[in-house]
Amino acid sequence: MIKIKTGIGFDVHQFVKDRDLYLGGVKIPYEFGLKGHSDADVLIHAIIDAIVSPTLATDIGKLFPDTSEEFKNIDSKILLKKAVQMVVEKGFDINNIDSVIIAQEPKISPYIYKMREVLSDIIGIPIENITIKGTTTEYLGFTGRKEGIAAVAVATMIK
Ligand SMILES: [Zn+2]
Repeated sequence: MIKIKTGIGFDVHQFVKDRDLYLGGVKIPYEFGLKGHSDADVLIHAIIDAIVSPTLATDIGKLFPDTSEEFKNIDSKILLKKAVQMVVEKGFDINNIDSVIIAQEPKISPYIYKMREVLSDIIGIPIENITIKGTTTEYLGFTGRKEGIAAVAVATMIK
């Protein structure tokens, strides 16, 4: 019998000066980067939670603790690769990922295709099975005040 598992991930990081901005594994030119123990790629972090939560009953904070020197300033693409490996070792195929980046700025639409390419390569699924949308919050809340970026991801895994 086929088992289908759907996972959701949500993450937020705060803007800071003097850091590069990475979203979906792509460096995006902007006056701020995101604060975090790793490179703070908020989209990749949401995706990791979406794939590991229903399959391994864990989360990114438990798998890659922000108290560990090993993960300091780490490229989140490496974390995603490790997470995908664990999910696949558990016998699951990742079918598709859908996601939303919630940011007032910068405009992310020019980078979406590149992010999908990068993520498709790491996760090992066709690009049409990775979808990303950008949205603003109409100047409301912390994203609207340009204090940071949030991301939501949903993933479906099949066993
Ligand atoms: Zn994060």
